[in-house]
Amino acid sequence: MTAMRVLGVCMVLATSMLATSTAHASKDHPVIGFSIDDLRLERWAHDRDYFVAAATKLGAKVYVQSADASEERQVAQLENLIAREVDVLVIVPFNSKVLSNVVAEAERNGIKVVSYDRLILNANVDAYITFDNERVGELQAQGVLNRAPKGDYFLLGGSPTDNNAKIIRQGQMKVLQPAIDNGSIKIVGQQWTPDWDASKALRIVEDALTANANNIQGVVASNDGTAGGAIQALAAQGLAGKVPVSGQDADLAAVKRVIDGTQAMTVYKPIKQLATQAAELSVELVRDEKPQYTTTLNNGTKNVDTVLLNPILLTQQNVGVVISDGFYTHTQIYGK
Ligand code: BGC
Repeated sequence: MTAMRVLGVCMVLATSMLATSTAHASKDHPVIGFSIDDLRLERWAHDRDYFVAAATKLGAKVYVQSADASEERQVAQLENLIAREVDVLVIVPFNSKVLSNVVAEAERNGIKVVSYDRLILNANVDAYITFDNERVGELQAQGVLNRAPKGDYFLLGGSPTDNNAKIIRQGQMKVLQPAIDNGSIKIVGQQWTPDWDASKALRIVEDALTANANNIQGVVASNDGTAGGAIQALAAQGLAGKVPVSGQDADLAAVKRVIDGTQAMTVYKPIKQLATQAAELSVELVRDEKPQYTTTLNNGTKNVDTVLLNPILLTQQNVGVVISDGFYTHTQIYGK
């Protein structure tokens, strides 16, 4: 994590040093501004690395910025990228609802806008690419339900500013509702986790355990960072591994927890596929080529041309997928 953080900051420094010069774009060598909500979280460093590699191969140049979970910083960074005359902005929004103005400003400057992983709401974005987040939620709820078909459940949601958190919850409820209706399970509490912050998740689950006298049989957590917080709270009560917890991202620590049985499952989203296709799509938009979309999703302003990719369930049974896919080495996971 520390290493990731240092790396993230370096990239931001490297790009901010260029802040005074503007880009000299041509369709052969497009300039891309990649604005990421929060490079301090493990998952986004993978996105950055794969994206920059793919874009560079296509002849493009990328400026990467991390907003570190601040909507003001993200807007300022986007304005800076617009001033540097990038050809296309690729944005992982911190707050899905506050970018309408800056997206309009990009549009006025002839800059394309791609919403990456999270949908920017109420804005005239050109394209959206993501994994099927509803499916992510279904896999999470099913993973917990398989291990705890009966009992009291706690729902640990993602950040309230992230549209994905809501879509994931919809997917979870699609699976949980029938079990609620037939009386097998009961939801005894639910909370969103500001900024998807693991330490906030820890406190939320500590409080939930106290409020329910430790009588919780399943925790449906929406990603691996928050799952880590939940599992730490359970471990303090001797319940880690006894109460199934879901996750998402196949973070290295989470993959290890799936192997040792303290986390029921995670969702592996092949980030290389997302980042590579996003880079291709962005370059195609600049070159006025027609990207291949799989569907459209409404963001409150328009039906946005969208590419939806398939997430993969990861349990103890198929954990090797992240090695065969080159996401991790055997040594990273098993230490030998
Ligand atoms: C992403 C997840 C990620 C979370 C926190 C979500 O929008 O889809 O993969 O864990 O944000 O960064």
